[in-house]
Amino acid sequence: MHIKFLHIFVIFFLACKSEIKTKPLANLQNVDFYTNLDTNKYTIYLTFDDGALTGTSNCYTICKNMEVPASFFMIGWHVCRTKKAQKIFNTIKIDTNQFEVYNHSYTHAYGQYKSYYKNPHLVVQDFKRSVDSLNFTNNHWIRLPGINIWNYKNIKYSLPSFKKIVDSLDKNGFKIVGWDIEWEENKFGLCKQDPDFIYQRVNECIQSKKVRKPKNLVLLMHDNMYRTTQDSLKLVQLIVKIKQNPKFQFANLSNYPN
Ligand SMILES: [Zn+2]
Repeated sequence: MHIKFLHIFVIFFLACKSEIKTKPLANLQNVDFYTNLDTNKYTIYLTFDDGALTGTSNCYTICKNMEVPASFFMIGWHVCRTKKAQKIFNTIKIDTNQFEVYNHSYTHAYGQYKSYYKNPHLVVQDFKRSVDSLNFTNNHWIRLPGINIWNYKNIKYSLPSFKKIVDSLDKNGFKIVGWDIEWEENKFGLCKQDPDFIYQRVNECIQSKKVRKPKNLVLLMHDNMYRTTQDSLKLVQLIVKIKQNPKFQFANLSNYPN
């Protein structure tokens, strides 16, 4: 679909409803998001954390309708606590043609990171609980709550104080994925920066090689930042800007290079 038309459509769609209905624009069964990647291009990985929350269905619908692959790091108890959350989780999980879901722990430490990370055994149990509850099958790829740590393929990026945590998770088969840059939240849990600023940062980081892997950039966002019409539109605007640059392409994390 032409980007200009798509942009107008999404604006209209968002103006109609703050939480977008999960109805795709087209049948994308024939779009291959996995095997047609161009190694000459810069690859952007959109990752959404902390669902299932109110903003999750907006993130899913925007990416679905804009034909962009994305990876969701879900929290077990956020998914399990309501039928609505289970429904959006299942919708994304079965849409394997375009999306991937990953384990972001069961409790997310309930926000108490200091005590959570004192006990490697409990951290491992917390991730195992999510595997059991949400039936994750994607090789135990995880993201740690509240900290940017990598222990994924040949990328090792951690802090000395996290060695026991990383080692314990590794022994249990969990591979940790962090991020290169974050679209931050403001004090209301909405977008702190505008899409132009994030696009600029994506450009600068990927071209100045301030990324874990040259020519690849993992962007962290939180689902709930896009729970409002206004902030959902910011996500649309960022995707439009990236799509308009022929040097960029989108991919899912399973395409992240070794
Ligand atoms: Zn998180």
